Amino acid sequence: MSGQEDLLEKVIRRDLKALKIRSYQDDAGNIFADIKGNEKHAPSLLLNAHLDTVKPGENIKPKIRYGIITTDGTTILGADNKAGVAAIMEVLKVLREEKLPHGDLQVIFTVEEEIGLMGAKMIKRSWIKADLGYVLDGGKVDTLLYKAPTQYNLTAEVIGRAAHAGVHPEDGINAIKVASEAIAKMKMGRIDRETTANIGIIQGGHATNIVPDKVRIKGEARSHNKAKLRKQIKHMQKCLTQACLKSRAMVKIKVENMYNSFSLDEDELVIKIAKKALIGLKIKPVMKMTGGGSDANIFNELGINTLIVGVGAQKVHTTSERIAVEDLFQGAKYLLEIIKETSARKNHKKQKDL
Ligand SMILES: [Zn+2]
Repeated sequence: MSGQEDLLEKVIRRDLKALKIRSYQDDAGNIFADIKGNEKHAPSLLLNAHLDTVKPGENIKPKIRYGIITTDGTTILGADNKAGVAAIMEVLKVLREEKLPHGDLQVIFTVEEEIGLMGAKMIKRSWIKADLGYVLDGGKVDTLLYKAPTQYNLTAEVIGRAAHAGVHPEDGINAIKVASEAIAKMKMGRIDRETTANIGIIQGGHATNIVPDKVRIKGEARSHNKAKLRKQIKHMQKCLTQACLKSRAMVKIKVENMYNSFSLDEDELVIKIAKKALIGLKIKPVMKMTGGGSDANIFNELGINTLIVGVGAQKVHTTSERIAVEDLFQGAKYLLEIIKETSARKNHKKQKDL
């Protein structure tokens, strides 16, 4: 789980060492491995997967039935994102064993992705040597996620006034009631094709006989369109301030930018290569936008054109998470095709520099 990646970090560094690949870690715990290629003119690739999982992720008991890997239903499986980690490790092994030609590769395994891309946010632009990036953190293998939203988090504290609920209720200002009024007025869920919003946490109150004086609310809004996102956040803030004004409660609101959106053009090399790789595997590519944030948001923001590719994990972030054994193989084959396809390309950018 997030913050508990140590064991997996050790296993990966041991396995990389066995492949004679040097790796190093930054202060956050992200693992880096630079693999020199023998195709000098090929673009260099960044390959990324994250090491952490969501909860409940302890004592996972995976089982295989009818070619599908699942759990006993009490935990997540962790195919998000260990399927991506496995695909990268497998492909590095195949490249060594079969002495296949390839361009320079930079593998980055990140930590704490699931709790706000914390690991990736620590990475400096100068540490990245690659021209193009693939984040192996998508769902279905055929799906290219080329567009992801910006996310803002909103935290609000509604402050009323405490009073004895039975003796002096008129002296109190009920923060729970004020917060509920604000939330009830908020547009939430799917706002439009590009925008979503949610209040996910509400905390407050001490006892039934006390008029509650404090409530904390945590929510978020996401959009592929920055103007729409600003409008939604403003709307949520307005619902809170108006409800508080009406009841003479106070409110403290904090809005944080969690990550920024990206949108890749269809004719970008990173997409062309992935499409060609899929077609090579006789899979029809499907272009989709995602409503989720991932480390790809960070790499794109750093200026590396980075696409999210599928590795087969399904129903992620639930205890029904699963992956087909066939898709595990397919994910690795796909990555190998991407590397082969890239090594056949000339790096125009590098040539221009010369
Ligand atoms: Zn993930």
